[in-house]
Amino acid sequence: CGIIGVLGKHEVAPLLVEALKRLEYRGYDSAGIATVNNSKLGRRRAIGKLVNLSDLLVHEPLAGKAGIGHTRWATHGAATVANAHPHKTAKVAVVHNGIIENFRELRTELTGKGYAFESETDTETVAILTQSHLDAGMEPRAAARKTLGRLRGAFALCFLFDGEEDLMIAARKGSPLAIGHGEGEMFVGSDAIALAPMTDRVTYLEEGDWAVITRAGAEIFDEANQPVARKVTQIALDQ
Ligand code: GLU
Repeated sequence: CGIIGVLGKHEVAPLLVEALKRLEYRGYDSAGIATVNNSKLGRRRAIGKLVNLSDLLVHEPLAGKAGIGHTRWATHGAATVANAHPHKTAKVAVVHNGIIENFRELRTELTGKGYAFESETDTETVAILTQSHLDAGMEPRAAARKTLGRLRGAFALCFLFDGEEDLMIAARKGSPLAIGHGEGEMFVGSDAIALAPMTDRVTYLEEGDWAVITRAGAEIFDEANQPVARKVTQIALDQ
């Protein structure tokens, strides 16, 4: 339901939780974050209110200057920890708003290739499909692009990769997604309200767009994988 992503200069866990608080108004049943630290993906998730996630992070802190976070409004699978986002494999973590309509077909295909699922969500197919492309030797960007080409439905997605502390991939199809520009930092949010404390310079992805984001900036591509220019807008910060 709510997405946040940060390639920052400082520890991101507190920033992610703070941004998720700003997305609480959308409603949610569980929440989670993932970071890359010393090249390794880590993850914390909790059901119920965000305070449960904050409490968990006190007892089991999650270090890292790159991370993604999510508040979930369940569509496929009950509100459990196993179904909470981020969904993660060895090499990729994914947060998702919306519905992947062809997830059953993808799940059957991936199960047939020997991949095991830990959740009942449509979202986990995105993580495992991407893992399968990485397993086939693709780079993260090619793997995500190939995954996006297979997905049907309405979604906003943000990917974070093991071993990649300066990379997020974001995609928008049917659910809004904004990229925030900082000074040597970059952000992704399901709306500008989530990004408001961190930056007032925002690029809204257009339908079908996907973006390769590093701290140096964002490269945006349209649905035909052609590079496109999308304008940066200044938003009012007093929200
Ligand atoms: N369909 C996904 C799920 O049920 C995402 C729901 C959402 O937008 O929060 O996990």
